[in-house]
Amino acid sequence: MKHYTRRNFGKLATTGFFGAAVFGSVPLAMGLNKGNETKKLGVALVGLGSYSTYQLAPALVQTEHCYLAGIVTGTKEKEAAWANKYNIPKKNIYNYENFDAIANNDDIDIVYVVLPNSMHADFSIRAAKAGKHVICEKPMAVSVEECDAIMAACKKADVKLSVGYRMQSDPYTQEVKKYVREKTFGDVHFVSSDAAYISRGNPDQWRLNKKLSGGGALLNMGVYAIQTSIYGVGENPTSVSAQEFSTRPEYFKDTDETITAQFTFNNGAVAHMMTSHNANGNRLKVHCSNGWFELDPAHNYGPINGRTSKGNTISFPHQSQQALQMDDFARHILLGAKNVAPGEMGKRDMIIAEAIYASITNGGKTQPLNLGTMGIVG
Ligand code: NAD
Repeated sequence: MKHYTRRNFGKLATTGFFGAAVFGSVPLAMGLNKGNETKKLGVALVGLGSYSTYQLAPALVQTEHCYLAGIVTGTKEKEAAWANKYNIPKKNIYNYENFDAIANNDDIDIVYVVLPNSMHADFSIRAAKAGKHVICEKPMAVSVEECDAIMAACKKADVKLSVGYRMQSDPYTQEVKKYVREKTFGDVHFVSSDAAYISRGNPDQWRLNKKLSGGGALLNMGVYAIQTSIYGVGENPTSVSAQEFSTRPEYFKDTDETITAQFTFNNGAVAHMMTSHNANGNRLKVHCSNGWFELDPAHNYGPINGRTSKGNTISFPHQSQQALQMDDFARHILLGAKNVAPGEMGKRDMIIAEAIYASITNGGKTQPLNLGTMGIVG
């Protein structure tokens, strides 16, 4: 298979390789396939932990427009196993120290940062400086300041940036957005969303270490509940108040365990979210003036399930969300299609997360949010 790199993509584009393709509205195959040549973007995964191993690498095999071209790992023993399994040449294998040399590797178009949260900003910025497009896992970073730094680095290097919000590429999410936009069940009055699981693992894991995670349940599963609260209503919230509950302080020594938060919106709707590392929850329910709809489960890798007050189910064939997500980003890079999870969305969610923590610190005091339409896409 012949692969085109981002660098010679520019050349192909300017020489008319893409013919009359209309950006974002023509099937990609028309623009990217000619004869036997197939355009695929090379992705390098940074951090080969469980998400890279069990979700992203298998998903890359299913993508139409990407392939696993390289790896960046701090664990020497993983190199040979990954190289053999995914046919990765030695020259495309990096560690955290020599990572910056990726700038000279034309096989790599996209660097996908899949490290503990506090390492996202450093590696995303280094990837941008190396001239690579960036996918940064969620949460985008551990502070709004870091989100700004990532966005500025990508802008300066003129590379594209996306956050690993797989749900934004999922057909169920599109259906929810459509119901809200078209008022299929009337005006949205109340949204209830939860994204949570019980953590029983090693108490020393990075997710329970604030220095590495930046926060507990809220920055892990909580970002999904923030997102569904927003697209369940169709606009950004104008204020938030929040509460934290701690029932296993001996285990959750450093990070938040269970958080509930209430949002208000300009259109009069109210949303309630729950996230936890000590309770299970995985649901979105949207109550409207003429009925309701829900996803249950709502935030997992799928299959997702939904039903409505009209008595019908919401059902789509199961596809890898991660494959859909990476293909969406490839279309954004190659065809100028919409970026479904831009940095601005990750930053917005971090502004909200910081406001939630501020509310908790201030005994549940309501925090105003001045977000406008920031981060709203689709
Ligand atoms: P993990 O613990 O399984 O893997 C973390 C990787 O980082 C490992 O390869 C580890 O060796 C490496 N690492 C480098 N420095 C480290 C350090 N100082 N401490 C600990 N590990 C270090 O974690 P994961 O589940 O793969 O999560 C990685 C990122 O992906 C996180 O940001 C997480 O939020 C995100 N994630 C997203 C989704 C999603 O649905 N979008 C799902 C899971 C994880």
